[in-house]
Amino acid sequence: ESALPRPTHRRVMTVANQKGGVGKTTSTVNLAAALAIHGLKTLVIDLDPQGNASTALAVEHRSGTPSVYEVLIGEISIAEAAQVSPTSPNLYCVPATIDLAGAEIELVSMVARESRLKEALSPEALDAINPDYVFIDCPPSLGLLTVNAMVAAQEVLIPIQCEYYALEGLSQLLRNIELVQQHLNPDLGISTILLTMYDGRTKLADQVTSEVRGHFGDTVLKTVIPRSVKVSEAPGFGQTVLTYDPGSRGSMSYLDAAKEIAVRGAKEEGA
Ligand code: ADP
Ligand code: MG
Repeated sequence: ESALPRPTHRRVMTVANQKGGVGKTTSTVNLAAALAIHGLKTLVIDLDPQGNASTALAVEHRSGTPSVYEVLIGEISIAEAAQVSPTSPNLYCVPATIDLAGAEIELVSMVARESRLKEALSPEALDAINPDYVFIDCPPSLGLLTVNAMVAAQEVLIPIQCEYYALEGLSQLLRNIELVQQHLNPDLGISTILLTMYDGRTKLADQVTSEVRGHFGDTVLKTVIPRSVKVSEAPGFGQTVLTYDPGSRGSMSYLDAAKEIAVRGAKEEGA
């Protein structure tokens, strides 16, 4: 594999969209795997009680497993919860267990409830792993878990499904990002929009694509992720699509998208 530029500073990207089923988890694990395959150390934080990212990365996440829940309540460090994913070298995952389901409510009464993940991801805490990239896979809501993810990151990556109502609800997400920027994390910005589940056979997919590009301009990656059965099958085999079917369009598109992300990051730092 050809090398991708290593960021000069660690990039923490929150993958958010309060709509379920738009490709947050799929994009998180496959982008992370693509960067990892290119030798960039990547850490995925599973912040969805469903634990889909943990499943996709084939890490242990039965109830009782040291997880992001214990990290958020301050019991253990991020390094203590992180596991190496068997799917790829250089890829780590902090799993989510069902224990996270209650966290949204438990967090409400906690000190510094919005910045607990940020504290857990401090440079000192991350020293042991020393990742180049951190991806935070958000649940399909705009609650305290997603707020924690936005406070902990510099970048938001928004996956948008090429479908009817693609832009519906997006203004709510944008408003929330703005609020976090204003009150909690001035460094936060939307760096990346990724179009997912593109079906070239439908006119609709092209309409959505141009509508999103018209709205968000260059923030939208040139690479579009096609709808592909290989992408959806891979997690069932404890693999990402990159190893499940390396030559598939899904695999190639996630590699291309990861390359765009890495190259852009390098450009921004040079500017
Ligand atoms: P979210 O995390 O936003 O809820 P997921 O990543 O879990 O969304 O994706 C929702 C469903 O769509 C999953 O069943 C997943 O396997 C499937 N899916 C995601 N991306 C693709 C794709 N490019 N092609 C086919 N199926 C996909
Ligand atoms: Mg998900």
